[in-house]
Amino acid sequence: MTTVDCPDCNRSIAVHELEAKTVAQSSGFDTRYRCPFCRADVEDVQGRLA
Ligand SMILES: [Zn+2]
Repeated sequence: MTTVDCPDCNRSIAVHELEAKTVAQSSGFDTRYRCPFCRADVEDVQGRLA
């Protein structure tokens, strides 16, 4: 299973457990992800999956 580590609580989060949130930006829409455990923003999810 593909997981990412939360930068805040260091838990492993399965990708499908990430809370996706689409936010409006001046340049369009952007999808942000949050840790389901501590609600911290998880940056660069795509990069962490590599
Ligand atoms: Zn966390």
